[in-house]
Amino acid sequence: MAAPSETKVESEKLDNKEASQKKGSITDEEDFGYYFYPDREGKKKTKSFFNRVFYHEDVNHFKCITNVRSCMQSNPMVKLMVGALESHGCPVNMERHVSCETCLEKVSGGFDPKSMQVVVCQNNVNTRDVCCNVLAHELLHAFDFCRAKVDFENLRHLACTEIRAANMNHCSLAAAFATGDMTPLNIKERHQLCVKNKALQSIMLVRNVSQFDAMLVVDEVFDKCYNDTEPYGRRCFKDMNRAKRALDQGRNYYDFV
Ligand SMILES: [Zn+2]
Repeated sequence: MAAPSETKVESEKLDNKEASQKKGSITDEEDFGYYFYPDREGKKKTKSFFNRVFYHEDVNHFKCITNVRSCMQSNPMVKLMVGALESHGCPVNMERHVSCETCLEKVSGGFDPKSMQVVVCQNNVNTRDVCCNVLAHELLHAFDFCRAKVDFENLRHLACTEIRAANMNHCSLAAAFATGDMTPLNIKERHQLCVKNKALQSIMLVRNVSQFDAMLVVDEVFDKCYNDTEPYGRRCFKDMNRAKRALDQGRNYYDFV
């Protein structure tokens, strides 16, 4: 499983140590993050009536599908990703390539290269905005897989696609502004630090590597991957106007409507 993004539900987060201990108790072999998605192929069990009603699975599922549909229709980041994927020969069909599932509480989404599916964690993603963000993040992994045949089991490849996803979708200018002096140099450094931290968290969530080793790999590939802003062609900093401009340019460049 590739590169889950973390859930925004901070209060329900497990820390990494706890998560890896849990992973370790399931299997000693590295499972590349599939542990977090009990509904994935091969592990899927028929859900009991109790599960469906008590845990609101049917309601969550319906809400998730409605949010996904809305994001695909009107969110500029998601629309750009879908258009760019299509022009690279990887069309996105919502029913086939996006799956709303119940996941463990640590994650909000994932990309499964085996099935070419983006997973949205219906139990952890509660609003449309978060849903669009998760979709854009995971579609970027799909884009890297489609464009560059990224091998998610290769730590350098994983680090690169996570740096790109954090750069494009997570670290806003507001986050860079949040602390310290607002000199241009500082903002750039703070943004880069935010991207590094976010990528580090995503890597350590799915791989049994030490923080030190993960940091070495992130540093090694950082410059190249941070400066690769395809298919957006710019950093959007979670700014809708910048995202809309990226979509307009993407339409011309990638030739989609
Ligand atoms: Zn990711």
